[in-house]
Amino acid sequence: MADYDVIVIGAGVSGLYALHHLRDELELSIRVYDGAADVGGTWWYNRYPGARVDGPGSPYYCYTFSDELMEEWDWAETQPTQTDVLAYVGHVADRFDLRRDIQFNTWVTDASYSDESGLWSIETSAGEHVSARFLVCAVGALSTAYIPDIPGFDGFQGEVYHTGAWPHEPVSFTGKRVGVIGTGSSGVQSIPEIAREAAHLTVFQRTPQYSVPARNRPVSPEEAAHARENWDSIREVMAVNNGGFPFLFDAHSAYMHTPEQRQERLEELWQQGTLNFFFANYSDVLMSNEVNGWVADFLRSKIREAVDDPETAEKLMPDFFVGTKRPILDNGYFETFNRDNVTLVDLREDPFEKFTPSGVSTAQGDHPLDMLVLATGFDAISGTMLKLNPTGRRGVSLKDKWKDGFDNYLGITISGFPNLFMIHGPGTPGVLYNMPLGAEREVQWIGNCIQRLKDKSLSTVEPTTDAEAIWGEEVNTLANRTLFPQTDSWYTGANVPGKPREFTVHLGGPLYFQRISEVAANGYEGFVFEAS
Ligand SMILES: Cc1cc2nc3c(=O)[nH]c(=O)nc-3n(C[C@H](O)[C@H](O)[C@H](O)COP(=O)(O)OP(=O)(O)OC[C@H]3O[C@@H](n4cnc5c(N)ncnc54)[C@H](O)[C@@H]3O)c2cc1C
Repeated sequence: MADYDVIVIGAGVSGLYALHHLRDELELSIRVYDGAADVGGTWWYNRYPGARVDGPGSPYYCYTFSDELMEEWDWAETQPTQTDVLAYVGHVADRFDLRRDIQFNTWVTDASYSDESGLWSIETSAGEHVSARFLVCAVGALSTAYIPDIPGFDGFQGEVYHTGAWPHEPVSFTGKRVGVIGTGSSGVQSIPEIAREAAHLTVFQRTPQYSVPARNRPVSPEEAAHARENWDSIREVMAVNNGGFPFLFDAHSAYMHTPEQRQERLEELWQQGTLNFFFANYSDVLMSNEVNGWVADFLRSKIREAVDDPETAEKLMPDFFVGTKRPILDNGYFETFNRDNVTLVDLREDPFEKFTPSGVSTAQGDHPLDMLVLATGFDAISGTMLKLNPTGRRGVSLKDKWKDGFDNYLGITISGFPNLFMIHGPGTPGVLYNMPLGAEREVQWIGNCIQRLKDKSLSTVEPTTDAEAIWGEEVNTLANRTLFPQTDSWYTGANVPGKPREFTVHLGGPLYFQRISEVAANGYEGFVFEAS
């Protein structure tokens, strides 16, 4: 006899909705575990200065399942701060009385399926052993902070912080010489903030990035009222938009415009800023080298305009296909390099040589430092599932199963791991979608699947390996029509040495959700069910 119907691992945006939906709507017994001391996941950990939503913005980075939530929550800014999102998630936890079923400060250290009992058993960092029929892994696609192996790094004895595991106590930069390693989303968000306070900031850049202005501003009462009044139709648009955004774009090929018209269109998008620059861009920007090159040239020209020193501007020039790494929004990132207290080190031409207790030497000089900020990202998408490393049928671990690639079906289930469900796993639109909305839609699918088992008195559900192979092909086919797989990025796992190189995001957007609904409607094709 299991202790619970469902164990959920993770109390971020996804795990919280899983708890609400499965407990309050499907009336299942649930226990949620999280290693953090409270709800929020991403927003609990990423407290670095400048951390904000850099997706669709307010009020659309939110749950859509409750009209009351929409009515009662006021977002202050279009790109809400980490503190605001955490407050919202905390409000949701209170509003739906979720905390009573969550055990915080508790890591799930082991999860194993028993062929004999057909149950999942977990072991926690508190030494408990708990069982359930279903295991929902809401462990996060960006929740395992990644620190690259920088030889000699341990030699540095100043303060060291990772943006994805930022301390809860305030960190002061005042009067300090700070180094930031990494210029992805977190680096680009934090660098302007740190530069304003630090005595000196040295940015150690591994890969120059494209970035578009966030154009963050207060949400006006009229905008909030408009969103509330039109919430039903906005939700309908979000459901069909490729990224789960509240806009319908009339995207067309760049070849339909003359060079002058292209310049005008890109300038218009640039002035609007936000992720719309990427989403409302030409339909072929991620398909055609040439079109991508035009957009890249435009963005590079914006860097030249923003940065006073031409030599620094050249070091900041990205040279990969625009949009094939996580698009970045900034609040004055490039202008930060015009400050007297900021130095840029291009690690490609001036690599690290030696860390000392009080700084680092690169090939071209010494950089005395009091603090290092590692904005080095995450072992993304599959990393936290692999860290959990559940053991499925016949004692096969996920690390074994995924040693050469991330085989799964629908991004939600894995053959050999019956009754295990992932949220935002490899093979879902996950990180290229409005993630709270994606989580809701995946959880609803999981809920329906569990309900089917209950209704038909079935004990297990598990995909076939054939279904996994077909699914993998589908994800790859969509990806291979684009430029995404050609770029080394955390989407392809290229930031983590030794990780199988595979682009694991399903690029279908709404088509993905249509696909998983069809699978369910067709009697869960690709799955094997076992009777009780
Ligand atoms: C700085 C930053 C900005 C972002 N901005 C956006 C944005 O603008 N739009 C957007 O859509 N997305 C954005 N994201 C992505 C963000 O991760 C998702 O939007 C969303 O918050 C993910 O929620 P989640 O619940 O799936 O995962 P997470 O929030 O990562 O939560 C996972 C939880 O699982 C817990 N956990 C993991 N393993 C275990 C274990 N073994 N035992 C116990 N607990 C465990 C972790 O402690 C964590 O609390 C951003 C991410 C970052 C880092």
